[in-house]
Amino acid sequence: MRSVSILSFLAPALLSGVSAAPFNNGAACGLPAKVTTYVTESHYTPPPEPPTTSISPPVSTSLPPTATTSISPPESSSTSSFTSIPVSSSTSLPASSSTSTPGPSASCRPTSWTREGHAPSVGKLRAALIFVDFPDMPANTSVSELYSLVETAPAELYKQMSYGKLELELVPLLDKFYRMPAASSSYNYSRALTTEAHLKYINDALTAVGPSVSFAGIDVLYVLPAKYASEISTSTATSADVTALDGTVIGNSVTFGQDLYFSWGYKTVNHETGHTLGLPDLYPYVGGTVPQWVGGFDLMGLIGGQSPDYLAWHKWQLGWVADNQVECIASAGKTTHRLSPIEVAGETTKAIAVPLNGTAYLLAEVRSGLGIDAGACGTGVLLYTANTAVSGGSGPIRVIDSKPNSNGCGNNNGGELNDAPLAVGTSFNTGLGVVVTVTGQEGDDYIIEVEQRI
Ligand SMILES: [Zn+2]
Repeated sequence: MRSVSILSFLAPALLSGVSAAPFNNGAACGLPAKVTTYVTESHYTPPPEPPTTSISPPVSTSLPPTATTSISPPESSSTSSFTSIPVSSSTSLPASSSTSTPGPSASCRPTSWTREGHAPSVGKLRAALIFVDFPDMPANTSVSELYSLVETAPAELYKQMSYGKLELELVPLLDKFYRMPAASSSYNYSRALTTEAHLKYINDALTAVGPSVSFAGIDVLYVLPAKYASEISTSTATSADVTALDGTVIGNSVTFGQDLYFSWGYKTVNHETGHTLGLPDLYPYVGGTVPQWVGGFDLMGLIGGQSPDYLAWHKWQLGWVADNQVECIASAGKTTHRLSPIEVAGETTKAIAVPLNGTAYLLAEVRSGLGIDAGACGTGVLLYTANTAVSGGSGPIRVIDSKPNSNGCGNNNGGELNDAPLAVGTSFNTGLGVVVTVTGQEGDDYIIEVEQRI
């Protein structure tokens, strides 16, 4: 783990009482106003009883059951089929060749993807941390205890996920818990949280900090509550502009809840920050189960999933996977492609994309047990659809299950879809006019043949 460089940088100013500008690196924020709020309430699990304390433990809110039911592939599931083919040689296949269509095409990239209003996904993302407590729920831990939970792990995770392209720099105010002006119970923070209530909470936190702290140069505001402030139950992100008392407009904010401390741990930071980068929730807002659409793939769905790395679709959107690392198949024919695992860095091809209409795509990528997906139980070629016209919480990405009714990997951590990837020697008709065959494997790379029939 890397050292406490941020803490040591801030400590002198904080300890000396200087009203310095710990968040000010001279850059301007100035993002346009937007109002997008993501609520992670479906992720919340009842926390354990806190250690000896007179403060009430967090409330027990309901947790959606984990997936145990079979989820059909999107749309034409009735026409999908799974067949076996002879396993090919693992040494004789070409390294990515197209037999009837052009190779990589930048034109395949969705035109709706923009970075406007989002935190930077490449380079440095500077996130200010404010620790708050409440008149009805004073802190009974140290600030440093809470900070230690997020100090290095989220940044390290992003370093791996982005292949070193994104540096999450935390800039914490470590001197104290800032006392919110209202009781924790007054914010109606849990399941009925409105955008207005959320913004009041954020603005109250900024007011508690006061005008002497400059937030200039800050991309994202993190607000962390006292550890046992049970009313502040779930973590939530918003892309609505807020204005700190020093006049800085902050374009993205995350307010963390008990789920950070007691349910999902530090990956909550990567999930919520994912929203500030422009990524949607992959679990259903209404009904269903958390992993019903993407299983344990991509922590924008199930944060505690067995294969939490962002999907290639998201890495492409964020600029971590380049346009020329996504081979687009825009016309009928049969093509062969070599895919390297999404979890490892490199300039190789990471995905194929087949445009289905103006907004929907079929994608294939390789999931391995490498890197942060070391806990993966299902590896191979993962097929899924992505649709830019479908909003978060409504299923913008849906994994196609090549092994329906298999009970996944035999556990509920991602449910039925955890074994969705295709193994070498299998062919799958997606029901979308595309048949994908995994013809071989070379090292960690997979060779696939894609037949587009329409
Ligand atoms: Zn979310």
